[in-house]
Amino acid sequence: MTEACEQAADGLRARLEEARRRITEAARRAGRDAREVTLIAVSKTHPAASVREALAAGARDFGENRVQEADAKIGELGGEARAARWHLVGHLQSNKARRAAQLFDCIHSMDDAGLVARLERICAEEGRARLDALVQVDLAGEETKEGVPESELAGVVEAFAVCERVRLVGLMTLPPFFEDAERVRPYFRRLRELRDEWGARGAFGAGRGELSMGMTNDFEVAVEEGATFVRVGTAIFGEREARR
Ligand SMILES: *Cc1c(COP(=O)(O)O)cnc(C)c1O
Repeated sequence: MTEACEQAADGLRARLEEARRRITEAARRAGRDAREVTLIAVSKTHPAASVREALAAGARDFGENRVQEADAKIGELGGEARAARWHLVGHLQSNKARRAAQLFDCIHSMDDAGLVARLERICAEEGRARLDALVQVDLAGEETKEGVPESELAGVVEAFAVCERVRLVGLMTLPPFFEDAERVRPYFRRLRELRDEWGARGAFGAGRGELSMGMTNDFEVAVEEGATFVRVGTAIFGEREARR
């Protein structure tokens, strides 16, 4: 490694440790065990080299929001990628479903009953015994947002009932951005209520159900409200360049 690379790797390691420390503190405030919280390092727009540094620093869960980008990155990492669990946190187009089922361990963005059935069929064809999935709930009701409005959640959740391979493990949300993270708290609370309601009905099998919520700006509030997956990009990898 060159000196510049080593410095970058040290920076990443320190940021990762800091994120973990903040999760532990937030969990303590809420009387939770921090081991219930999985930190997903969202590596979108960052190169394979950054994923490699994060792996060396002990990160094991990575989030990507585009199938194509993940495909290239995982390809570049080769065998090293197998040490990681890959989470798709962005919208999944049905024409990318097969590649997604080949690449990812967990899909956080299920938002359509037809897509659930399609993924189940693909898993059978690919001989894949298990693929974890979360339904993305749109709690803000914004037209442009992805995810299932609460009023349509039952239809998507129930689509998993006939699946043997695609397992519903929890709910995910991507609330509107507020500078003041406290304003996001009601969205996290609502997602937890929905998770509890569906969990009580057995929607997540034997488990209580995962809660995928919280990003760089608000992950501590999310942990206080029960998050079991936090999806953190910027606080670990630094700022992303603006999208083309
Ligand atoms: C980019 C992204 C994140 C991470 O965002 P940061 O603010 O950089 O932590 C989390 N979740 C989803 C769905 C994303 O697209």
